Order: sequence, then C-alpha cells, then structure tokens
Amino acid sequence: MVISFEALHKDIWARTGRLKVGEKIARTPLLLPVINPHIQLITPSEMQQMGVEALITNAYIFSKSVEFRKSALEKGLHEVLGFDGIIMTDSGAFQQSVYGDVAFSNTETVEFQRAIGSEIIVPMDIATPPDRDYEGAREELSTTMERITEAMTIIDDGHLAAPVQGGIFPDLRADAAVRVNETGATFCPIGAVVPLMENYRYKELVQVVLAAKQRLNPSSCIHLFGAGHPAMFALAAAMGCDVFDSAAYALYAREGRYMTTSGSLKLNELQELPCACQVCRTHTVEELKKSPDKERLLAMHNLSVSLAEIARIRQAIIDGTLWEVVDERCRSHPRLLEGYRELLSRSSDLVERDRVSKRRFFYRGDESCMRTEVIRYHSACLRFVPGATCHIAMNEMVSGDTDTVVQFKPPFGIYPSEMAETFPIGQSEIPAWDEPMVKAGLQGVRRYIEYNTETQFSISCPQRWISTLHESLKGLEDRYVCI
Ligand SMILES: [Zn+2]
Repeated sequence: MVISFEALHKDIWARTGRLKVGEKIARTPLLLPVINPHIQLITPSEMQQMGVEALITNAYIFSKSVEFRKSALEKGLHEVLGFDGIIMTDSGAFQQSVYGDVAFSNTETVEFQRAIGSEIIVPMDIATPPDRDYEGAREELSTTMERITEAMTIIDDGHLAAPVQGGIFPDLRADAAVRVNETGATFCPIGAVVPLMENYRYKELVQVVLAAKQRLNPSSCIHLFGAGHPAMFALAAAMGCDVFDSAAYALYAREGRYMTTSGSLKLNELQELPCACQVCRTHTVEELKKSPDKERLLAMHNLSVSLAEIARIRQAIIDGTLWEVVDERCRSHPRLLEGYRELLSRSSDLVERDRVSKRRFFYRGDESCMRTEVIRYHSACLRFVPGATCHIAMNEMVSGDTDTVVQFKPPFGIYPSEMAETFPIGQSEIPAWDEPMVKAGLQGVRRYIEYNTETQFSISCPQRWISTLHESLKGLEDRYVCI
C-alpha cells in the first residue's frame, strides 16, 4: 500500500502512529501547515527546521498561477517549495465553488495534482454546507462518491484520498464512511466541518465526526479537514482524528491575532507574551507590535503553539492522559465545553476502543464521572464475585461477619483489596468527595448489587452521604442494610 497507517498507542479513540506515504514517514497526530506559494510568511524549509514533517497546498492556486504553474509542472512541488517531506494537495473544490470555475473539473484537478508530484491527492468533492437539507446533502454525497470513483480510475496507485461528506446528518456521514471504506482508500479526510468550527458548533461537530469515525476502517488515517486551531486539537484527536491542517497560523497572523491553546488574543491588547517559543522569548510585546516583520513573527509563534500542542497530545496519548488535556482545553470556551460534554455522553461507545490501563486518572470535576475509565470500571468490577454476604465499606467501619468485604472509591464504586493497586483504583487521585463523584460511584455500587442477585449486602456509609446512598439505591431496599 502506498499510503498506510500504523497505530502505536491508543487513548480514548485517539492514536499515535506512523503515516507512511511511499518511503516517507510522519508521526501522528500530525499537523499539515497550509502553504500558499504566493504568500509564504514562513518558508517550507524553515518549517522543516521547526519540525514540520508534512504540508498541504492548493492545486487550484498552482493551476491558475502565472508564477508557479509552469515550474510546478516541470520541477514538481517538492523542488518548487523546497520541501522534501510529505506534500498533500487540496483539489480546489472550495475555490471552484467560490469562483464558479466549472472548467476546473474533477478529472483536471486529479491529473494536475499527479502532474505536480502531490503525494496525497484529493478529488473534487462537494463540501456540503451545514444549512443544506437532508435531500440536498444526500444528493451532494452521491456526487462526491461518483467523483471519488472517477478519480480512482485516474489515480489507481493508492495516492488518492477519499473524503467523507454528508453535511450535518450523522446517518449520511456514517453511510459516506462505509462507502469510502469500499473504495479501499486509506487516507480519509472528513470534509465540510469548517463552517461548524467557525460558528462554534462543536456539539454538531462531535456528532458528525463520531458518526463517520465509528464506521471508517480503523486502519485508515483520518484527516479533519480545515481544523487549525490548537484549542480544539485535543477534542478532535480524542474522536480519532489523526491529521489536522492549519491555514489559521498565517490567517490569524495577518489579522494580528496571537494563538494560544485556550483561544486567540489580539496582539494589540497584549501587555505580555505568555509563551515559551523563540519569538516570544526574544521579543518584548512592544517590539513585536512595532516590528516590520510582525506578521511573519506572529505566524511563527502561531505555528509553534500549534506544533507544541500536537506534541503534547501525542505524549498524552502515550501516557493515557488525553481526557485531562481535552478537559483543560474545552473549558476555554462554553461552546467547546458543549462539544466535550457531547463526547462524554458517548462514552459507552468510546469505551470499546479505549485502552484498559492508563498512567493515571485525575479527577477534574463532575465531567470526569462520565469518562470512559469510569464506565469501563462499572462493568469490569462485576467480574469480582462476592460471597453470600458482602460488606461495602464506604468508611472505615468494617463488618467482621460477612463472607466478603469490599471498599468504596468514587467515582468508580466497589473494589476488593486485591484491586487496590491496579488501574484505575490505585492510580486515581480524587479530592475530598463531592456529590457528582459519590453519585457516580454509587451507580457502580447499584450495578454490582443488581448483578449479584444471590448476595445480601451491608453498607457502612459516612453520615454526610447516607441520603445520597438511599437515593442512588432506590428500589433495592430489600437487598442491603445500612449499618
Ligand atoms: Zn510564542
């Protein structure tokens, strides 16, 4: 296979892995900076020195460029751009729709991308806008699928990407994913999500991305097309997106906007440069504001922040601490928080592909109660078989005359002493008990009692939590006594 993907570590639905394109290899999650040959605030070779392993440029721009068309056709993109990493091209579908250039057809764009030496080639798909109705979205998806099939007859050596469309309708996205799998493509961009991100519609973003990702072949590399703000990389990675692209680093720089992992700030309003990158540590904020090189320096900062966030996410996936990064980032905007909560509401689906053991579980408030580790533990603890009588010790008071004694740790629930050192009980840090975590833990207890129908339970509970206990175990009064 010319384009292949190998996952190395997993966390939630995220993976770190190796994207192999021909003989070239890039680490994922991967950020592709977008290059406009006419406006290079940072050159591709400078990017390579910053650690960029792959980039994306636009076939339409090269095709229409007086300055670059001929040289790209003669020398190829790598020589023209001075970059020997992986180069992907976008078809120009967006420009075609804006300029109404019907002459730039599907066949023409894929042949042109091939001719200029692109290594990941995108057909002329239709980016269905969020306001398209169901029937319209379905028809546009059909057209996209026809174009992928047509492009496959021209690019038949595995360099073709197969975009997943379907508008805001999860069932169409799921259908698109199944059909994309059938094409055999291994690089799958999830398209037309930019308007959702621009309008902070993160809840719908999560719905459509999960619908697609759930059906896409697990060995395919997934590109979230147009996702360029570092504040949302962690959320997207958690959904299983492996590749992002950033035009934002340059677009924001031109608008004087300074990216951070918790949103963007206006340079003009800053008194300090709160960042560890080279630019921020070698300039004062006044020097940066007055610099004739301001746009370029801001672009370098923006790209550095984005690349650092990708590295942070890769490390978090290796450690199994990605939920913590998602939690941190998604609190920077209420609408991102909505997206995060939507993701958490799908934990029972996410848990199937999440890893069993992680480095640690840090409790970060009530959202933590919905995490996959908690959902998994509530099922996993059912494997521990109690005797005819079982005591659940929520406090230090232990009944001496039961067959079995188990402890309680919120938000997980019961655990026998032999599980005290294993994940997550032994590797979880929780602050003083709060209502959400105790309720979540008692949901685990409830399942345990319901599951073990032959056992009679006694529970010792701190006074403070007795009413929560009774409320959580409502309907099971004949199965336990509180002592
Ligand atoms: Zn900086």
